[in-house]
Formats: sequence, structure tokens, C-alpha cells
Amino acid sequence: MRQKIIAGNWKMNNDKEETKSLINSLKSISFSKDVKVMIAPSYIHLSDAAEMLKDHKIDVLAQNMHFLNNGAYTGEISPQMLKSIGISKVILGHSERRIYYNETENSLKQKIKAAIESNFEIIFCFGEQLSDRKKGKHFDLIKNQLKIPLFHLESNSWKRIILAYEPVWAIGTGETATPNQVQEMHSFIRGLIKQNYNDDLANSISILYGGSVKSKNSKEIFSQDDVDGGLIGGASLDFSEFVKIIESI
Ligand code: PEP
Repeated sequence: MRQKIIAGNWKMNNDKEETKSLINSLKSISFSKDVKVMIAPSYIHLSDAAEMLKDHKIDVLAQNMHFLNNGAYTGEISPQMLKSIGISKVILGHSERRIYYNETENSLKQKIKAAIESNFEIIFCFGEQLSDRKKGKHFDLIKNQLKIPLFHLESNSWKRIILAYEPVWAIGTGETATPNQVQEMHSFIRGLIKQNYNDDLANSISILYGGSVKSKNSKEIFSQDDVDGGLIGGASLDFSEFVKIIESI
């Protein structure tokens, strides 16, 4: 059985009080035990979040991290630092980090390696631009985005990987991929894992969809065979909307 997951990426939003209030509201809901709920507050609030959710089923994710444990890298945060405040889950490869901070397949390979060595669980994001899709290059592009950072890993390391297909043209734009487009890509991704590893591994990996998921479209997207949940940006900042999305899986 693949784990169903709904993860909220809060990006650079919410001050300290807003973060605590949203966490307290989420703590008051008892979600189905079949779904794993995760939240990724900004770095500055991770300690608060980890403390508030210490004995709770909601998991806390960092939105990024460096691949080294320490050194002269002004402004960066290391795996060791995250571990020291009780965080062992991280989002890597988000399109905003690829676009604004020049993350590449090779730098992500280093980050994935470091995350695995430090026993992190990773939500690895990838997705094509609209121009790639229009040229019919989206399948090749996704294949390359997975190949360098992930397809050299030992099968055992895949226990730590959750995939998140996030077409860049659907992130924060209000434009959602159709359920058919999502299923087609998720099935392609599972096929790649089968080709590079085996059926058992491919059938055990959770593949999330991200890109303008709202409560009005989540049920249909999550009901697709190869969709195991969602990575939710904007809608995860709105308590009742996020709860509706979680409850729709
Ligand atoms: C995201 O940033 O991962 C995301 C999916 O954002 P949104 O839901 O706002 O499109």
C-alpha cells in the first residue's frame, strides 16, 4: 500500500504568530489515519513548528537545505542544523529554487546524497515548463530531471524518497493540469522507476501532484490511479481550504 500524503508548502509566507496559529488550528483536527499530513513552514519558524508538533502526527519539512554540514556558506542551513532542532524531512528541487536560485540536476544530486546520508526523508520536486510541453518534450525532460539526482541511488535509499510532479506552468497560476495529464505523467514516472529498478519498488513510491490544487479540484486529481496525494502551495495557507483538501483524499 502506498502512503497517501498531503504536504503544505508555506513558502515565504506567515510571520511567527500566523505560523503558530495555523499549526494550532491544524492540530485541532483529527485527520484520517490513512493520510500523512506534512507542513513546510519557513526556516525561521521550523523550531517552533517542531516543538509544537513534537508529539503530533503532522510532520514538519524544511523547504530546502545545503549539502554540507557546516562551512563558510552565508545564509545557508545544513542537514546537521535541521537535525539538531528535530527536523528530518526536506523538500528538494522545488521549481522556485531551480528558477530563482539556479539549482540544477547536479546540485540536487549532491543535496539528495547528503539528505540520504543524514537519514532525511525527501520530497523531490520536478516538472516541465509550458514551452517544453508545447514542444512535446515534457516526457524527456521529466526523465532527465529524475535521472541525474535519483537513478543512481541504491534501491534501499528509495525508502526515503517521495516524488512530487509539479508542472511549472501550474504552480501558483490557477491553471491546473487536467486529471488525465496528471495520471499520464505519474504513470510514466512509475514506469521509469520500473525500468531502472523493479515493479515492487515502483509500486511502493508515493507520487504527489502539485500545481494550483484547490478543494474544488483535489478529489478528482487524487482519485487517479497513480496519484498518491498532493504538494499544496497557496491553498495550504488557508486553514479551511487545506483541511478540505486533506479530507478529499
Ligand atoms: C508549490 O509551490 O509546490 C505549489 C504546488 O504551489 P501552488 O499550489 O500554489 O500552485
